[in-house]
Amino acid sequence: MNISENLDKILGQIPSSVRLVAVTKKKSVAAIEEAYNYGIRDFAESRVQEALEKQEQLQNYQDICWHFIGHIQTNKAKQVLKNFHWIHSVDSLKLAKYLDKLADKNSISPHVCLQVKILHDPNKYGWKVEEIWQDLSKLESLKYIKIDGLMTILPLGLSQNECLDTFAKTKELASKITEKSSLQLKELSMGMSNDYLLAVEKGATMIRLGTIIFGERN
Ligand SMILES: *Cc1c(COP(=O)(O)O)cnc(C)c1O
Repeated sequence: MNISENLDKILGQIPSSVRLVAVTKKKSVAAIEEAYNYGIRDFAESRVQEALEKQEQLQNYQDICWHFIGHIQTNKAKQVLKNFHWIHSVDSLKLAKYLDKLADKNSISPHVCLQVKILHDPNKYGWKVEEIWQDLSKLESLKYIKIDGLMTILPLGLSQNECLDTFAKTKELASKITEKSSLQLKELSMGMSNDYLLAVEKGATMIRLGTIIFGERN
């Protein structure tokens, strides 16, 4: 697996305005260093313990922007808050409120995305469309976390058109919420190795790529 060649190819396909977030779960510190040396500065992890161990070894890389993309248990929320600049996987009102309280207490204001499910998917966390409208006024009242966008993960097995449609609906939802509330949802964290070109076509501002950069995970 040649990480630099993979990155060359991917960056050649997407506009420079799209933020490439390299997903390094189950990948080595050496792999992260290789992507860093290429010029990547945004890295994402989905498990707290694994991430903290790698961050410890990468302390000298002060300009890495760390993104958290996994489900957060309450007892891990404080560690996520303290060690990540971006949290893409805020998936319930309860978690959003709790992070806001911790953000106040610790004087940290992370950037967050709200994780939404446009299509029914029992295997994923996140708000259904009707649920997010119900929770909106409570989300608007949170003062310490910066709610900057929406994140979505597509269900497996969609056709190309279904992927395009679902990404487009995610963007529409962000626009509608921005229009009808005090939230400013500029960011769309959508697109993974299998579907990032479709996500970019429909307005993704951040794509989260693992396999296509670093190879299959064991
Ligand atoms: C693992 C993961 C990715 C990256 O998936 P690939 O298919 O390897 O690109 C992106 N987003 C989330 C939330 C993930 O858990």
